[in-house]
Amino acid sequence: MPALSDPAPHADSPAGAVARSGAETVSLDDSARCPCQSGEAFGSCCGPYLSGQASPPTVERLMRSRYTAFAVRDAAYLLHSWHPSTRPATLELEPGIRWFRLDILDRVAGGLLDSTGIVEFEARYRMPPAGNSGDESRPAVGIQHERSRFERAEGRWTYVDGE
Ligand SMILES: [Zn+2]
Repeated sequence: MPALSDPAPHADSPAGAVARSGAETVSLDDSARCPCQSGEAFGSCCGPYLSGQASPPTVERLMRSRYTAFAVRDAAYLLHSWHPSTRPATLELEPGIRWFRLDILDRVAGGLLDSTGIVEFEARYRMPPAGNSGDESRPAVGIQHERSRFERAEGRWTYVDGE
């Protein structure tokens, strides 16, 4: 079962850019454009969720904040927002992956008065080719297409699983 943390390359294209490396969490200024591409600033979009100051009110906001967490490699937030029944013990984020685009395709329930919800999305990423240092090859481009299920747990929205 695919997960956003373990994508398979969808398409690859040889030659060109340099792969990025490093697994540290990227810190973003509040005024920076939010990685989830809402058009809002990070500090008034996903930032308060990642910092724990607020909880996403809807499953779409949670999904966006988890995408942002992948983009800035915030594994702690990803684990925190995972449903206790499916949450992995640890989460290793692929250091070379760079998430660069999110499209929300569908959403079912997941609002203020709901206890479950679904969000279908496509997330695009670049990753270095396997077994290559990345210095001479363009990173492969892939698309993670997932229909994610969310449930309320411990009073807040959490990610259950996806297909
Ligand atoms: Zn955002």
